[in-house]
Amino acid sequence: MTEVIRSAEALREKVAGWKRSGALVGVVPTMGALHDGHLSLARAARSQSDRVIVTIFVNPMQFNNPEDLKKYPRDEAHDLALLEADGVDVLFAPGPDEVYPEGFASKVSVTGVSGPMEGAHRPGHFDGVATVVTKLFGMTQAGRAFFGEKDWQQLQVVRRLVRDLNIPVHVIGCPTKRETDGLAMSSRNVRLSAAERAIAPALHRAMQDAARAIRDGAPVKAALDAAQGAIIRAGFATVEYLDLRDAETLEPLQDLRAPARLLVAAVLGDVRLIDNIAV
Ligand code: AMP
Repeated sequence: MTEVIRSAEALREKVAGWKRSGALVGVVPTMGALHDGHLSLARAARSQSDRVIVTIFVNPMQFNNPEDLKKYPRDEAHDLALLEADGVDVLFAPGPDEVYPEGFASKVSVTGVSGPMEGAHRPGHFDGVATVVTKLFGMTQAGRAFFGEKDWQQLQVVRRLVRDLNIPVHVIGCPTKRETDGLAMSSRNVRLSAAERAIAPALHRAMQDAARAIRDGAPVKAALDAAQGAIIRAGFATVEYLDLRDAETLEPLQDLRAPARLLVAAVLGDVRLIDNIAV
């Protein structure tokens, strides 16, 4: 049975009991509308911790666009059934007032890695992420936290935050789960029309082609320009960024130096998709 907990105080009591018996607690922070990508994190948590908490909180502070927040898919009953099937101990699903009570006045802000790409295109997004993740670490007291490589920049922001603030949690990055046609699983994919869904895998294909060309020695700019052209020709409205960057510092790279990462954000219809791969 997965127990649903909505208050930080009830969660604290639950976790204190686990810790008295020496259990290692793992947490998987999510915004719900769970898919196999999220469940792969829950399974990693299950295999690397004694107790597993999955959190579902659609965090208003990390949405720079109110429309996006309003349209964000929510289906807690379905999510709970999936978590139950995977043996998750607790679903922590606090309401906005539990996370941001009257008078809330703090903000966690990570500089550097949160500046470019998502940081530049979604002002305030990573402050929202860093703040809520810090709170979730405090509320869950977890020793291990599982994040997807799907959100590569977010993973680097969380790693930086944990190091900088001496938060006693071990951050574990998990590989991106994809549909069989290569599209990275995302809660936002349900908002794609059938026609858009057929176009969407072109994003990953263009990334793979660019990564291969760069590995084979093509000039980085030429490879990125070709990929950008392919994405637009496939039917995407815009490419917000398509960059080759140092995988950890996220500094832009003009030539290939390992470890490098190719990262993209592109808009299809009114859905913004992000993806990244190792080069
Ligand atoms: P979200 O609910 O989108 O905020 O995502 C919650 C966590 O699931 C984050 O750590 C994401 O990186 C991770 N995640 C989302 N999609 C995938 C995926 N396709 N594969 C692996 N992890 C994912």
